[in-house]
Amino acid sequence: MPAPRKKPATAVAAKKAAKKAPAQTPANRIADKLARLGLRSDIDKVLHLPLRYEDETQILHIADASRAFGRPVQVEGVVTACEVAFRPRRQLVVTIADDSGPLTMRFLNFYGSQVKQLAEGNRVRARGEVRHGFFGAEMVHPTYKMVNEGAPLPTGLTPVYPAGEGVSQAILRKTIADAMARLDWHDTLPEALRTAHDLLPFEPAVKLLHNPPPDISEHALADRSHPAWTRMKFDELLAQQLSMKRAQEARRAKGAAVLNKVGSLSQAFLQQLPFKLTSAQQRVLQEIRHDLQQPYPMQRLLQGDVGSGKTVVAALAAAQAIDSGYQAVLMAPTEILADQHFRKIAGWMEPLGINVAWLTGSLKVKEKREAKERIETGVAQLIIGTHAVIQDDVQIPKLGLAIVDEQHRFGVGQRLTLRNKGVGDGTATVPHQLMMSATPIPRTLAMTYYADLEVSVIDELPPGRTPIVTRVIDQNRRDEVIERVHAAALEGRQVYWVCPLIEESEALQLQTATDTHAALSTALPDLRVGLVHGRMKPAEKQETMDAFTRGDVHVLVATTVIEVGVDVPNASLMVIEHAERFGLSQLHQLRGRVGRGSAASVCLLLYQSPLGPVAKERLRIMRESTDGFEIARKDLELRGPGEFLGARQSGQAMLRFADLETDQWLVERARDAAQQLLHNDPATVEAHLARWLGSREDFLKV
Ligand code: ADP
Ligand code: MG
Repeated sequence: MPAPRKKPATAVAAKKAAKKAPAQTPANRIADKLARLGLRSDIDKVLHLPLRYEDETQILHIADASRAFGRPVQVEGVVTACEVAFRPRRQLVVTIADDSGPLTMRFLNFYGSQVKQLAEGNRVRARGEVRHGFFGAEMVHPTYKMVNEGAPLPTGLTPVYPAGEGVSQAILRKTIADAMARLDWHDTLPEALRTAHDLLPFEPAVKLLHNPPPDISEHALADRSHPAWTRMKFDELLAQQLSMKRAQEARRAKGAAVLNKVGSLSQAFLQQLPFKLTSAQQRVLQEIRHDLQQPYPMQRLLQGDVGSGKTVVAALAAAQAIDSGYQAVLMAPTEILADQHFRKIAGWMEPLGINVAWLTGSLKVKEKREAKERIETGVAQLIIGTHAVIQDDVQIPKLGLAIVDEQHRFGVGQRLTLRNKGVGDGTATVPHQLMMSATPIPRTLAMTYYADLEVSVIDELPPGRTPIVTRVIDQNRRDEVIERVHAAALEGRQVYWVCPLIEESEALQLQTATDTHAALSTALPDLRVGLVHGRMKPAEKQETMDAFTRGDVHVLVATTVIEVGVDVPNASLMVIEHAERFGLSQLHQLRGRVGRGSAASVCLLLYQSPLGPVAKERLRIMRESTDGFEIARKDLELRGPGEFLGARQSGQAMLRFADLETDQWLVERARDAAQQLLHNDPATVEAHLARWLGSREDFLKV
């Protein structure tokens, strides 16, 4: 090897040198692609279980296959014609035949190599659904392989694995088979535990799932009720429970600042509040106060329906941290919400002499530098902002309490970063954490993903609220609705007009918002109509929100940027266009923007007919209920728990095999088993976690 050149003289030379850098071998490239699927170690590969199976154990005569509609079949024949045709698109058309007749295979995308492979006279085994097209019986894009006459058929079902770009089933099958040959197959569960829960041993269960015998119940495999699947799910859930419990212990073992002064600030703060806390607020405040005085970090979720008054509880928790000589930070998912918190809380705290800093991504360089300086020197006692507060270059030296509003809007990684901002005074402590959310967590989720979380619930709304009346109205009665908006505005009430959600295109959504704004401005010439959407500059957004808060704007046309947290008590009418496109929890969040003052509030859900059954059901639920817990429960019924987590919520989808809804009985067993093992059998705990978690564990610690 030549000695490395010191400094390439020119950019061209630099490029050449870079090109010479480590050659990617094909094996490396495959390893990279497998790694992207999370397949690194042998156990990763062995636990990469099939999504489904294909039955390739039989070959049908082509004539019979042509009569088997609607299900995939396998045939074998010799190529009798192969041509690239234009019909009208360029495509590869191949005819094969067996004794019973011919079949056409069509490929709209194909490689040159396939044309050679499928040359006349070659023998093909093809699998797909037969349709009757323009050219008679045909398979479009069948899977196929070239075979010799009499090539043996598989004796069991063929697994189909979750695949990724550039990783074929063939590669996966070989990779997994190799890993299975190398694996140390010891069972991590003691026999007594297996017997107690009637579980298959590990090795035969896994092997069966990769290579099911031909006589197996395909149904039990497909719906994952087969005992082999049960064993996998149990193992997975057990690993999760163990890891949660350990994380909990680890958290308790860590130190946290003892925030034991509920002092002058807290008292002054309470005194100057324009209202009295509800008894639910008082109760959760006591719970939080107690936690904050412990020498280990609190991890508490504050749940309360929209409008239940979580913010003031958060501010009081912050006051306790500040009274005790520490800093507190409040992070919100959107700039509008962070801004609103800042104004409200700074409005409460600054008159009491508290230094509040404001930090978001949109600050000018100079402002940001100033804010950071105040934070880093400890001058700022309370920091409010967006995720800008968790950026690397922001140090919060005396961070005692981290509050995350609308926590479900943040990724697991972001919450982890905030927690790791730790108190920088040399002791290895972490801040207390208070998370807030209006979305209640279903019981199964609470038992699994949130096992290491204390929960406080505000189950009472502040007094004096009149319930929101919800009406469901056909979109073609828009004119009447506009009339109603007009009348409301003349009575001094303020109105939100929420534009439809257009998931496929943000540009289109913006366009719609702009159009709606223009149309309403024309239709309501005597009113001031404002517009706020996600693409506006933060300053513009703020200006509009301010004008709305001051009452200078009557009607605020908005995209879903107002969904979370926005609090303008005088707004008492909300119109949601194309309400059928929104999910239940989103509608509930949106609707929660009204009904915050004492005026009777109305929410008009406009829909476009015809409505599908699920959309109809959603709108019915919205009309009948204003109770967030009830709505969340219905939402769970309609959608299943997966969506509560979302990709963001789960970090990495921790549960690959178990289904929280159908496998709840297993969740409970796994939880009990975890408890027992942690008490009596640390070796098993270690072995089981090592097998099942590997690199995933970090995500459970949040
Ligand atoms: P959320 O729980 O949805 O975050 P907020 O904290 O924004 O709700 O509170 C909703 C509104 O209710 C705010 O205007 C807040 O000032 C007011 N509020 C909170 N607690 C009380 C109370 N105990 N009595 C009267 N109003 C309250
Ligand atoms: Mg809120």
